[in-house]
Amino acid sequence: MNKKSITELVNGASCLDDYDPNSMPVVQARKHIRNYLSPLSTKECLPLRSALGRVLAEAIISPFNVPNHDNSAMDGYAFNADEPSTDGVTRLKIIGTAFAGKAFDGKVSGGTCVRIMTGAVMPEGADTVVVQERVTVDGDIVSFSDGPKRGMNRRLAGEDLTRGQVVLAAGHLMRPADLGLIASLGFGEVKVYRKLRVAFFSTGDELASIGQALGQGEVYDSNRYTLYGMLARLGVEIIDMGVVRDDPALLESALQEAASSADVILTSGGVSVGEADFMKELLEKLGHVVFWKIAMKPGRPLAYGKVGNAHYFGLPGNPVSVMVTFYQFVREALLVLMGQPEPAPLPLLNVECTSNIKKFTGRTEFQRGRLFIVSDGTWKVSTTGAQGSGILRSMSEANCFIVLDENVGNVTAGMTVQVQLLEGLV
Ligand code: AMP
Ligand code: MG
Repeated sequence: MNKKSITELVNGASCLDDYDPNSMPVVQARKHIRNYLSPLSTKECLPLRSALGRVLAEAIISPFNVPNHDNSAMDGYAFNADEPSTDGVTRLKIIGTAFAGKAFDGKVSGGTCVRIMTGAVMPEGADTVVVQERVTVDGDIVSFSDGPKRGMNRRLAGEDLTRGQVVLAAGHLMRPADLGLIASLGFGEVKVYRKLRVAFFSTGDELASIGQALGQGEVYDSNRYTLYGMLARLGVEIIDMGVVRDDPALLESALQEAASSADVILTSGGVSVGEADFMKELLEKLGHVVFWKIAMKPGRPLAYGKVGNAHYFGLPGNPVSVMVTFYQFVREALLVLMGQPEPAPLPLLNVECTSNIKKFTGRTEFQRGRLFIVSDGTWKVSTTGAQGSGILRSMSEANCFIVLDENVGNVTAGMTVQVQLLEGLV
């Protein structure tokens, strides 16, 4: 991260582009921020389970084939597909049993088969498994008609992973399947990036902390709780610095303390018109920070830059704006810093909207939506109702964002819109 480049960003240098900082498109702001992000350099070795939610710092290479041997995908009888049939019926003598973990020791040759369980190694000479439901057993003779095609119900050695294959690349975010995949290779430890440290505080003279009585004109500080929740889900180390009054000396020392202890600083409030001049002066003194008005709703004001070595995000104060700007800008930035060079873009799905939405072109809106299933089994979306940036209930009730980009105007019920899911299975 070099200071000159962020100076250029702050000054809106021509090498960046000539977008108006007072109307910065969402995609452009995201791109600018990406230029200043590079992954953490510290790595650590962790026991496999502790690596859930972390980012791999080294690729996982398969030391052998998985599975190691050809084996049966079903309970049945292993035989050779060359066996002849009489009047369409194949008759074979059972010469033994192959269990998972206890192979059959002999060889399957003409006229014979082996009783085989799911996962058991295919006996020598057999290449196909007929499932037990398809056969008739009479003493030690198995018969079946319409025998399966060669190779049926046989899993091939290496069909999951082959020896030397890159199973997971460095930069991969570890999910439950990955724990199992790495365990299937016999590894008990993995190398991951250290946890990202994120410090945050709320700014505002009107904020009361929970547990205190509310004074005249005060509101409870809710942003520190939503931020905590969103950060906890990302698996970062959280440093909650509380509420800081709109006082330059207090804000200065809070920012300095945050910069000395964290990789990333998040603040909420104080970046909107009127308040921004005050924060601007302070951040000019302490670091290099750009103040944008993003062409989006909610969440117009956004500040980004560096305070000391820490990345700084100044989020708006309104509770919904905090969440929207976090999900649209901060989340991806944190994933990059955590070690994922190219975080996968969040899917945008096309769905029929059942609400009328008033919308101006020229800005991106993130309406809070509720996907629901209708009687014919299709999914539709409606808004959650009132969309004010102070109505946090709209986020609680939502299971998706309705993303209306800059080119979209008014939406009438029945039109297709794009949605971004808030719910994730893994
Ligand atoms: P600001 O961006 O500081 O002008 O704040 C915009 C609005 O968000 C004001 O109505 C604030 O009272 C409200 N607000 C700011 N910070 C918080 C917070 N931490 N919790 C709840 N509301 C807040
Ligand atoms: Mg404020």
